[in-house]
Amino acid sequence: MKTNPFDDVSKLVRAAGDYLELEKKYPQQTLVERFLIPDKTILFRLSLKRDDGTAGYYLGYRVQHSDMLGCYKGGIRFHPMIDLDEVKALATWMTLKTSLVDIPFGGAKGGINVDPATLSFSERERLTRKYTHRLVNDIGPAIDIPAPDVGTSAQEMAWIYDEYRKHQSNARAAVTGKPLEIGGSAGRQAATGNGVVFTMLEAIKDMKLENPKVAVQGFGNVGSHAALACRKNRIPVVAVSDVKGGICNPNGLDVKKLIRHVAATGSVVGFAGASELEDIITCDCDILLPCALEGAITENNAAKIKARLIVEGANGPTTYEANGILQKMNVTIVPDILANSGGVIVSYYEWVQNREGFYWEETEVNERLKKKIIAAYNKVRTYAQKNDMDLRQAAYCLALKKVADAMILRGTQ
Ligand code: NAD
Repeated sequence: MKTNPFDDVSKLVRAAGDYLELEKKYPQQTLVERFLIPDKTILFRLSLKRDDGTAGYYLGYRVQHSDMLGCYKGGIRFHPMIDLDEVKALATWMTLKTSLVDIPFGGAKGGINVDPATLSFSERERLTRKYTHRLVNDIGPAIDIPAPDVGTSAQEMAWIYDEYRKHQSNARAAVTGKPLEIGGSAGRQAATGNGVVFTMLEAIKDMKLENPKVAVQGFGNVGSHAALACRKNRIPVVAVSDVKGGICNPNGLDVKKLIRHVAATGSVVGFAGASELEDIITCDCDILLPCALEGAITENNAAKIKARLIVEGANGPTTYEANGILQKMNVTIVPDILANSGGVIVSYYEWVQNREGFYWEETEVNERLKKKIIAAYNKVRTYAQKNDMDLRQAAYCLALKKVADAMILRGTQ
């Protein structure tokens, strides 16, 4: 059964609102309930003339959740199962994430319910351009800034930029995650995976984990770069999976060779020097990096997890019920809105560079990312310790409080 991530994020936000006593502090301001309703929800039909002359149709989404702390910001997902509640949840997480890591953006998310693997290159281009055309008055460098997510990459961002540029000048800062040649930032591709591992290393120190072994679910942008960052830090990756299956090697996988194998075959499956793995979530490892989709860890598999540390590269990989089970098992979870914030942090740096017309070296981008995400991790850990709560509750409280304060300061007429 498909989980409803918007129900899950709503429960967590309400719990944070209760803890912060927002109702008592700001009586009858209905802050939490107003927060949970997105500012604007855009849903539209996209017709597509296929290469063979037939016509198909898809649903396009853009949810602008909150611009209390800055203009809307969030990725574009191409996935056949996407629906409105999922996009609403993803947009809400973006608002919480940008608030938590102190960047001057709000939250948004969008996408199309399409399997990009079923489209030719030119069909993908036409569909992306149509999507952009429909949103041309709703996005922009000071309004709402898209970026890549599941099923999209720098190529789609290049088409969004080019389509938007037909309607508005000064278009570079209207979308992030672009190719380097047209204003992308050095370090953006690897930023989310790198950020996952920066927070993982902090948690390893806090937990005093010795010689930990890592398993990675999902080997796309986030999972593959997180695996590469583990390799750089000499932490063995013993298991990896993607939508087609999983592989493992208790002595550690050769991540660089695996990336070449995936580029050649389209999957981790069949990689030489590894055996088949049935279930990555419950496999033998010390650290689990879920880097695929929502709802990977549920009440059905949570109790069987062997990892002592979970660092959420994906958005919403752990359901509300599973989170409760794992807390009782004393598993440490670095929550999504902190762990995978590296992507939006470097998207923010890309936006700054585009506006200044002055570009930074990759080492400078990576150093700024590291400093910012570790500062956010320390802030969350300190709040959690002080208030005797887990890292997810702490992250939600800190993020929600800042947005709620902004709602009060900006006022309601
Ligand atoms: P991607 O499309 O590049 O890769 C997704 C990967 O997940 C693929 O390897 C796919 O095969 C795998 N996958 C899908 N279903 C699976 C399943 N059931 N079991 C195992 N693997 C499965 O997407 P991405 O950009 O790497 O995003 C992954 C997650 O990270 C998403 O939750 C996304 O919202 C989140 N995220 C991405 C970014 C970013 O910068 N790209 C930033 C923050 C958060």
